[in-house]
Amino acid sequence: AYWPSSGDIRVKGLSARYSPDGPKVLQDVSFHIKAGQRVGIVGRTGSGKSTLTLALLRCIYTEGTVWYDGVATDSMNLDDLRSNITIIPQMPELLSGTLRHNLDVFGEYDDGVLNDGLRAAGLFSLQRLQDENRLTLDSKIAGAGSNLSVGQRQIIALARAIVRRSKLLILDEATSAIDYETDAVIQGSLRSEIHKDVTVITVAHRLQTIMDSDLIMVLDAGRLVEIDSPQVL
Ligand code: ATP
Ligand code: MG
Repeated sequence: AYWPSSGDIRVKGLSARYSPDGPKVLQDVSFHIKAGQRVGIVGRTGSGKSTLTLALLRCIYTEGTVWYDGVATDSMNLDDLRSNITIIPQMPELLSGTLRHNLDVFGEYDDGVLNDGLRAAGLFSLQRLQDENRLTLDSKIAGAGSNLSVGQRQIIALARAIVRRSKLLILDEATSAIDYETDAVIQGSLRSEIHKDVTVITVAHRLQTIMDSDLIMVLDAGRLVEIDSPQVL
């Protein structure tokens, strides 16, 4: 259940396109991320950051190889792969139903565990107890999340990853509409104790968000043009 056990990722010659005969929007990317590293990805809009996150899970057409903990994804069941690695997209889609249902589709966890996940993801630090509209496990999520802000949706998706104990978390920061406080809360949660053994990749829109990463990757026009520690860059 806890595969991948450490969160080591090796990528060699990874290219990606959105349709079988479409252009390669990610080209020949290679890198190695060690378990537990904090990695930031930056690059201009359209440079391929979100595409790279999708290619890592083989959600689009890819060439090249990705290994998680030394195991090549070609030989893996894709459902298995996707249930063990969490990507939080720029615009997460939630399930219609309660917040509890969104955190625990199969009804496997106690409310205590789910509330711990919400707390660790930072939700409670953003809402006042006396607010009647505050989110709780019983809150109804309408229209697959359309009644929530993008920041709230990302926090819920993060809480789900914490509950599932994902060893590899990929956060694609919302481009717009996310306020500074919410952004800071999410980044604080990702740096907290609970994530110290987790490999965290953050696609960042503010360089400041990822300045204390172990590694920063810079993408330009679908290519990886730099990868180094923030001190060197
Ligand atoms: P942003 O900072 O705006 O989120 P990004 O770096 O995440 O940008 P990508 O979304 O990865 O950029 O886009 C890279 C390239 O892939 C762009 O040229 C874009 O037009 C193309 N692209 C993205 N999504 C699709 C799609 N669903 N179908 C076809 N092409 C796409
Ligand atoms: Mg993007």
